[in-house]
Amino acid sequence: MSIVYLNGKFMPLEKATIHVLDRGFIFADGVYEVIPIFNNKILRLKQHLQRLANSLDGIYIDNPFSNEEWSAIFSHLIEQNEYQEQSIYVQVTRGISERDHDIDICETPTVFAMCRPIIKKDYHEGVKAITHKDIRWDYCDIKAISLLPSVILRHRAKLQGAKEAILIRNGLVSEGAASNVFVIKDGVIKTPPKTSEVLPGITRDLVLELLDNKSIDFEEVNITESELREADEIWITSSTWEIIPVVGLDNEPVGDGRPGELWGKVNQLYQQYKGHL
Ligand code: PMP
Repeated sequence: MSIVYLNGKFMPLEKATIHVLDRGFIFADGVYEVIPIFNNKILRLKQHLQRLANSLDGIYIDNPFSNEEWSAIFSHLIEQNEYQEQSIYVQVTRGISERDHDIDICETPTVFAMCRPIIKKDYHEGVKAITHKDIRWDYCDIKAISLLPSVILRHRAKLQGAKEAILIRNGLVSEGAASNVFVIKDGVIKTPPKTSEVLPGITRDLVLELLDNKSIDFEEVNITESELREADEIWITSSTWEIIPVVGLDNEPVGDGRPGELWGKVNQLYQQYKGHL
């Protein structure tokens, strides 16, 4: 049985319940993080906690814990839930209040955390993606729990036999509905810069670091929709998906329709990094 953390206590998932007036439920007034664990080691804890702190700051919630306190909660969860590859899902909402927008009537945030197994699928054949207008809000650097646009976007992708929707804002690629995007043309690796229109992905940054360590050039630049369509390779990255090659875009092949050579190389670097955590 899965053990979870809720407001200061560890308990079986079935026992973890929250108030219906929790503002997470009423307003989607909260933020979250997903942190991957490989062989009981947390990948990039510091960076995930920093992003959580930034997200909390962005919606005016005081961080309820120090990094050491967060770390202790996560360690306990990892010990209790020994999946081989798992992720910690952690969510902080503004807590319980009358149904009123005013944030000052709210005193104690609700803190929930759980481990979930990472179900490994084999993405070596690549996946399909669709393109879609970026229908989300202007603060995509905040990892907000209000994920309805992403839910709809991923469903539209699924209806077309695709895994992900790659989002276009004012003619430029922003990111995927649940991932960051890399585009490769003539050996040049590009990814959009970190702006408020993009979640600063931990996997994205790790990929850039791995490239840098091997002196493989990359550019953090705007990518136009036509550059996306003419790409030799497209990759999508996230903590639980790692680096997935996109081999079809809107029913057209990407490059020769197979995972590219550079993807193979970078994926190998990533797997090596994971193996030495
Ligand atoms: N962008 C969005 C919109 C996401 O939801 C995610 C995570 N699922 C990412 C990018 C990737 O971020 P990370 O590598 O930190 O998981």
